[in-house]
Amino acid sequence: MATNNKLDKREVQELATRFEGKDPETVIRWALERFHPRIALASSLQAEEMVILDIAWRMNPGVRVFTLDTGRLHEETYMVMEQIREKYGIEVESYFPNREVVEALEREKGFYSFRHSVEERKYCCGIRKVEPLGRALNGLDAWVTGLRREQAVTRGTVGKVEADESHGGIIKVNPLTDWSGEQVWDYIRAHDVPYNRLHDIGFPSIGCAPCTRAVKPDEDMRAGRWWWELPESKECGLHVKSAGAS
Ligand code: SF4
Repeated sequence: MATNNKLDKREVQELATRFEGKDPETVIRWALERFHPRIALASSLQAEEMVILDIAWRMNPGVRVFTLDTGRLHEETYMVMEQIREKYGIEVESYFPNREVVEALEREKGFYSFRHSVEERKYCCGIRKVEPLGRALNGLDAWVTGLRREQAVTRGTVGKVEADESHGGIIKVNPLTDWSGEQVWDYIRAHDVPYNRLHDIGFPSIGCAPCTRAVKPDEDMRAGRWWWELPESKECGLHVKSAGAS
């Protein structure tokens, strides 16, 4: 286990440059050797994160995985969590929002307040995702995500290694930034990786049930997330622009 995992801006920039263009295995191996067990994969049970989980588990069966159980997830998403337990023997570390705050939200604003405005939607994401993420990252030196640059206009400059300034400067590792969707699915098929069945019925991106819908073949892959909003506002606050991004 590494003892000093604080990296300064220069080191982060050097790592981002060093790993740019490198395959996910190289990035994940480095991250696990450097940070485990103070590193965890953040998984919303989408295809990208299942690929990373499978690669990481083959290197270290003790790899840590956490998820944000917002209380509004699809049934299919819980089924993937269970498959992870069964196939990989991994206990998914689930983080639930603060019960009293959710109760107050639902009593005061109703059950679909997120449809009223971007502010109301971000308020709900703040309660159900951002606050639990802060708890999940507490005590970690690094986290791993399945972000890919082609997923959204807001993700076009994501680096493979970044400093996450919105979470105390801990390291954020994004091994799949330059992968295409086709590469993700090639890996899943080649390695028989469990995946969320919603992907089979037109969901390229999966989040909370009331805020995610299937998309048509000619639609953007994030078109089904908060589809009533403009593309520029379509982030939930989990992935704030970080230092070291290329
Ligand atoms: Fe709330 Fe929708 Fe955000 Fe989920 S995605 S936390 S239901 S606003």
